[in-house]
Formats: sequence, structure tokens, C-alpha cells
Amino acid sequence: MSDAASASSELCNQLSVENLSVEFSGYRAVDNGTFAVRAGSIHCLIGPNGAGKSTCFNLITKFIRPTSGRIFLDGIDVTKDSPVSIARKGVVRSFQISATFGGLNVFENVCVALQSRNSEAYRWRRSDRALKRYRDEADALLEGVGLLDQRTADVATLSYGRKRALEIATTLALDPKILLLDEPMAGMASADVGRVVDLLHKVRKGRTILMVEHNLRAVEEVSDTVT
Ligand code: ADP
Ligand code: MG
Repeated sequence: MSDAASASSELCNQLSVENLSVEFSGYRAVDNGTFAVRAGSIHCLIGPNGAGKSTCFNLITKFIRPTSGRIFLDGIDVTKDSPVSIARKGVVRSFQISATFGGLNVFENVCVALQSRNSEAYRWRRSDRALKRYRDEADALLEGVGLLDQRTADVATLSYGRKRALEIATTLALDPKILLLDEPMAGMASADVGRVVDLLHKVRKGRTILMVEHNLRAVEEVSDTVT
């Protein structure tokens, strides 16, 4: 297929990867990965540990470069984009390992994310007024992930499952167009899993979600497509 024909065939898909491969010292972690994510869908990637799912996220968000293959966003080849460029285009990921700021409380973590979206990172430390502007939005996100009652808790004191919930809130605070979630429900109690499933249904409007998840019941409940 010509480049133009290939690009136009991608237009109905918001994100697609074509024959994506990456090798680490000769070891093929992702081997000819090909899938397409429709705009507005929740698309789950499933597979055993070591299958290359997280590496796929690293390729899409440009943390690593593919050995071969291509990545398209809205039909445009973004294979050579930088991590910053892809983030500016609204592709935001969460990590399999919880990534939150220890030493800050739950509420402050969400505020940092909200303000980094608006290029005001860290200014809140100096301005009570700026902090107030984000209060309602931060609380709504915390309520969505069931953490409102923990808003003043130091992140270091949270259980693993609650840290993951906080990470989902901080990822959503960036208002991504395409949200990549890497095992968002790992280590969560079943009540928390249900809460995250509800939250995904709530936040999916106007965005696309690509998710790696091992909890197959949750996958069945939220996904439109499974690869
Ligand atoms: P999954 O998320 O599906 O469990 P990963 O994408 O984390 O799997 O890993 C796929 C394979 O690639 C694993 O065997 C892993 O050890 C290997 N791998 C991932 N990242 C690197 C790296 N930076 N260097 C070397 N090997 C890696
Ligand atoms: Mg993984």
C-alpha cells in the first residue's frame, strides 16, 4: 500500500500501530504488533506477563523507539515524534508501577497534575488563590476514584490499590484525548475495581482509552474491543 493510501485507511482509527517491533540486544519484546484503536472506544490489550504490552505503551508514548513499524495518530505518521510532541497531541499514559508524588497529600497530587496541564506546575505552592481554582475540579476527580475521604492523607500512607486510584485521577487531570492505562486495577480490592469500572464509563465520553488489564471481568465490562 502507498503511504497516502495507508494513511487514509487509518483515518477512521484514532490510533493505530502497524507491524511494530522492538528489539533489546537481539531480544524481540514486541514482534510485528498491529492493531487499531477506534476513536471513542475502550480498547483492551490482554496477554501473559512478558508479552510486550507495557513495551507497546512505551513505543506509543515514545519512551522507546521501534526497531521497525509505524505508529499513526489520526491518520498521521507519528513514529518519529518526540515524547513531548505526542503528549501535546493528547496521548497520556499511566504506569504499571504507581507514579505519585510522595510527601504531597492526595489532593495536592491532583492539583499538581491539573496545573501542569495549564503550564502552571508548582506555582500553587505560592498561591492560595490558584489552589482554590482547582479545588472543585480536584475534588470531583477524587470523588470519581473514591478518594475524597483521603484528600489530606499523605500519599506515602495509601495502600497500593489507592495509589493506583490516585494515579488514575492524576492521569485524568491532564484531560487526555487518548488515555493509556497500564493495569489500572492491579492490586485493587474488588470494591475498588468496581469503582474504577464505573469511573471509566464516566470518563470515556469524548476520549479514547487503550488499556492493559489482567482482570478479565473488568475487561469484559468496559471494553469495546480486545486485542
Ligand atoms: P508485559 O507488559 O506484556 O508484561 P513488557 O512489555 O513489560 O511485558 O516486557 C516484554 C519483554 O520485554 C519482557 O521479556 C521484558 O523483560 C522485556 N523488556 C522490556 N523492556 C526492556 C528493556 N528496556 N530492556 C530489555 N528488555 C526489556
Ligand atoms: Mg506490563
